[in-house]
Amino acid sequence: MIGSLIRDARAAQRGVLGEIESKRLVAAAGIAVVPTRLARSADEASSIAHELGFPAVLKLASPDVVHKSDIGGVRLGLADGQAVARAFEELRQAAERAASPTHFEGVAVQPMAPAGLELLLGAYRDAQFGPVISFGLGGVLVEVYEDVALRVAPLHPVDAAEMVGEIRAARLLAGFRGRPAVNRAAIEQALLGLSALMLAAPDVAELDLNPVIAYPDRILAVDARVVLTPASEPRP
Ligand code: ADP
Ligand code: MG
Repeated sequence: MIGSLIRDARAAQRGVLGEIESKRLVAAAGIAVVPTRLARSADEASSIAHELGFPAVLKLASPDVVHKSDIGGVRLGLADGQAVARAFEELRQAAERAASPTHFEGVAVQPMAPAGLELLLGAYRDAQFGPVISFGLGGVLVEVYEDVALRVAPLHPVDAAEMVGEIRAARLLAGFRGRPAVNRAAIEQALLGLSALMLAAPDVAELDLNPVIAYPDRILAVDARVVLTPASEPRP
């Protein structure tokens, strides 16, 4: 599964997997992702949204776009088929207007996940240390406070538990101002899953799940991005 995803991307000479392929790879590593499918027309987007359920989310599906929201490429909370069809056209236009116009392949259709605590789970391959796993809060806070826990893979369960406990924002995980506590065991499992994936798939240079939404009973990745190692580079 992981092997064939990577082979297809290499064959297409793409160094980055799009959101849909990235989510497939992450799901194969045992991490829950929101179901996401590609639509190439407004009609198709609306029929997929009917299957997956409303409210729906549409996003520009282009491996060239690193931060989809920066170019107006994410439409949240679409209530019905009409809203989905309209958003499809808007995203097509956004792709054309983008500073470096991106090839429009279609849109990624997915259900809107309920609100929860947004986290960042990631991994990268360091030249010295090999695979490194990262954990922090999602969104801009992680950049502002550089509040990230890092561990070199392979991770053991105790490492994953430490990572989740050591960020300065850890209090938020235990529930804060009326917010419920989130499922720490599910987060720790996902970090172990990322560790296993990085060891099993040397072609993966970098992987970002931002955000993963955490709830009292589970977690759900709603965005994913995988960067492959350059085909010719020696892999640490
Ligand atoms: P970007 O490429 O800008 O990182 P994201 O896919 O992360 O795009 O979407 C931006 C934001 O929209 C996320 O941080 C999250 O808050 C929200 N979001 C994205 N997808 C979903 C979804 N399926 N359900 C709920 N919220 C979502
Ligand atoms: Mg994101």
